[in-house]
Amino acid sequence: MEILNTNLLHPRQRVGEHMQRWQEAGGGEALRIAVRNPASVLASIKDADLRGLGGSGFPVWRKWEAVANETADPDKYLVCNGNEDEPGTFKDRLLLEETPHQIIEGALLAALACGISRIVFYINPDLTRSLAALKAALAQWQDGELLKLASDALGKTIRMELVPGSSHYIGGEETAAMEWIEGRLSGGEKFPFPRGKPPYPAQCGIYGCPTLINNIETLAHIPAIVRNGADWFRKQGIGRGAGTKLYSLSGDVLHPGVYELPMGTTLRDLIFVHGGGLLSGKPLKAVFTGGPSNTLLTPDDLDVNLDFESLRERGGSLGTGAMIVVSDGTGMVKRVAEYARFFAHSSCGQCPSCKTGTATISRLLDRIDTGRGTTADLATLETLCRMLPGSGRCHLVNGVVHLLDSSFLHFRHEYQQALK
Ligand code: SF4
Repeated sequence: MEILNTNLLHPRQRVGEHMQRWQEAGGGEALRIAVRNPASVLASIKDADLRGLGGSGFPVWRKWEAVANETADPDKYLVCNGNEDEPGTFKDRLLLEETPHQIIEGALLAALACGISRIVFYINPDLTRSLAALKAALAQWQDGELLKLASDALGKTIRMELVPGSSHYIGGEETAAMEWIEGRLSGGEKFPFPRGKPPYPAQCGIYGCPTLINNIETLAHIPAIVRNGADWFRKQGIGRGAGTKLYSLSGDVLHPGVYELPMGTTLRDLIFVHGGGLLSGKPLKAVFTGGPSNTLLTPDDLDVNLDFESLRERGGSLGTGAMIVVSDGTGMVKRVAEYARFFAHSSCGQCPSCKTGTATISRLLDRIDTGRGTTADLATLETLCRMLPGSGRCHLVNGVVHLLDSSFLHFRHEYQQALK
């Protein structure tokens, strides 16, 4: 994996290294600033326009403020969500492996800002190197001076624990994560079921306590914002983007990897400047933007800025920042069918529309892709695209529809060809 522009992944702060060396390189400085005025952390995050980088793009300060306004009786929780599992997304694992001390510092800053005393690191158990790195780093924080400083500033002992997650895509959904952490698995299943909302986690989360859930990449940005200021962070973005973003670049590209680049970098620069262009040398056909559950972009979109607003204007989403490059000659029906199978398999099954809807979409796509489809199958898929959005407790069912809709918009002719 290649890393550029290392705000998040400062070479001298890499893991494996002892905490003392991390501190000598400036680690812990933000925490020392924050203990003098914990309220200033929330204000800085608001001014910096930091967004949730796990896929939502939701302003971080709004979640923080909601939790900060709740009383901490007996506790408030912070869940550091590292259960990443979507195809094409592999940024959090790298952060955890490379810079866990910075993530822990970010978590403590969030805890101070929101009055939180219980921190849970919830990590995909398949990411064994990430887990090992974080475990080793946490051991160096326990009983250390910095943790004591933060606890003293909060007026309560801060406890941090590491919980291996569910190893299932749906386990990364925030309310499913809370179910897993509480140990409540529905129906003897091996993965957690998302909860209905409201109540929202900020009011009623883990064990009924106010709970803040932030993605690993989001937390990793916080120390630098506190240390260098909101202006410094905002100015690193391009156009409407603020700060930097980790983009996971994969597919038919010469240099796949994780790139930290200004938020708002164009798709063209990401693929052709940093990624070196297409590995096969063929023309670009499409990019699954933000992971397969978002929008397909085409060569006409190469100059789009990869930030939340610009993609929303095109009916899409930046999602996790995953960009999967597809070249000419790739069968789009087959590719969409593969992703639909993944999502059908990932459905927890508690919402009938999602359980049967995703399974039907997957079955019909397979049929069309293998030359057994009919025009009635295509019509059924279109009907499902109209009926399913908003019918599930979580985003999964909407994501499948997004994938399908987007492929119809740009590659309808391939479906029609497959029917012939
Ligand atoms: Fe489960 Fe699907 Fe409902 Fe989400 S939408 S809670 S994955 S059944």
